[in-house]
Amino acid sequence: MKTIIEPFKIKSVEPIKFTTREEREVLLKEAGYNPFLIKAEDVLIDLLTDSGTSAMSAQQWAGIMLGDEAYAGSNSFYKFDAAVKKITGMKTVIPTHQGRAAEKILFSILGGKGKYFAANTFFDTTRANIEFSGSEGFDFVVEVGKHPEQRADFKGNMDVKALETFINEKGAENIPLIMLTITNNSGGGQPVSMQNIREVREICDDYEIPLYLDACRFAENAYFIKKREKGYENKSVLEIAQEMFSYADGATMSAKKDALVNIGGFLALNDDELAMNCRNLLIVTEGFPTYGGLAGRDLEAIAQGLEEIVDEHYLQYRIRSVEYLGEKLIAAGVPIIEPPGGHAIYLDAKRFLPNIPPEEFPAQSIVCELYIEGGIRAVEIGSVMFGKYDKDGYLIPPPMELVRLAIPRRVYTQSHIDYVAEVVIEVYNRRQTLPGYLLTYEAPILRHFTARFEKLCNP
Ligand SMILES: *Cc1c(COP(=O)(O)O)cnc(C)c1O
Repeated sequence: MKTIIEPFKIKSVEPIKFTTREEREVLLKEAGYNPFLIKAEDVLIDLLTDSGTSAMSAQQWAGIMLGDEAYAGSNSFYKFDAAVKKITGMKTVIPTHQGRAAEKILFSILGGKGKYFAANTFFDTTRANIEFSGSEGFDFVVEVGKHPEQRADFKGNMDVKALETFINEKGAENIPLIMLTITNNSGGGQPVSMQNIREVREICDDYEIPLYLDACRFAENAYFIKKREKGYENKSVLEIAQEMFSYADGATMSAKKDALVNIGGFLALNDDELAMNCRNLLIVTEGFPTYGGLAGRDLEAIAQGLEEIVDEHYLQYRIRSVEYLGEKLIAAGVPIIEPPGGHAIYLDAKRFLPNIPPEEFPAQSIVCELYIEGGIRAVEIGSVMFGKYDKDGYLIPPPMELVRLAIPRRVYTQSHIDYVAEVVIEVYNRRQTLPGYLLTYEAPILRHFTARFEKLCNP
């Protein structure tokens, strides 16, 4: 097998700035040891997120010039509408400025006190919108999905037995919808199988509950199905995606992921009455139904991005480049969530730094060291992001301490990824020298964005 190459050539480049280790030490200290507070230009390789960081194609940039900025009935809307319908087959498509805006509209209407929602794992903005409406959200990912070191093909699957128990407990009439996040972002970008989607659909049919997809990474999920699920090896990714959506009553999507754009999203659904209510709310919060918080040029870029994302050379390169980084790290003994997911590698900080307790933020320590060592920006997904306090003020840590290295789409080449692997391995090899951290400032909510830290003495 020959090397899988980037299925594009580069027409326009953006220089990256090099800094010295001494400069990075000063910059990180000034940022309170929180890389969210470092200026992007002081980052060499930015793996903070894959959201809105994609490189657009020449065709997408051409679409930007074609954007029809008519307030109502824009031509770009009709292209966007057709592109989303081709993949999802949904009756109504409502553009929004991001995925969370689609969630806000949907859960404002369906949520409220006394309602319950279930998913494999709700993404944090989805959960926040459910809770903001006064409802509660519950996660039922399969057991293997909770164990970073265990390999399985579809670790994003829903535990259907647990789901059914939950429905019987809460009453189907109190559950406005069930959601599958594909791929399961918060669970390591792990895919959901077609069989699992079908099983969840059957339960939804039995109890007459609508099924929605959080479809941010639908193409990556479809590619995993093609590669791993029997019976799909000869189907196209587009056909697989169409089948996935055929089992759903609706979908929310952040176009900042698998539509290869820098801003945008949508809500797609089949229920006419619900669609009318959603559109009415859209007009108050986002805009007229044919632009919904986006410019015509954005709609144009999304329509083109949705054509490009199902290209199998692209997906082969995409999934392989994440796996390639994962393989290099595994070979060097670095503990990660296995197998590598679709959009990111997650370092398992508990096994990486077993000597640093959650109260001293082991994943934050790795994040800091990756910046110092190589100018790489990653994100902590552990006690800083999800830690809570008990009534005596002691930390209640979340189940996992992770560092996410999210790979922006079409942005970095194989040598950038080789460099990332070298830096992570270098940090791993001197893990005994990494310090713990003390939290010195935290905001009341979403503290990870603005938190500040001090270094504790080296162990
Ligand atoms: C990013 C994301 C969202 C929210 O989308 P935004 O465009 O950031 O508002 C929802 N669900 C999943 C799985 C995501 O990854």
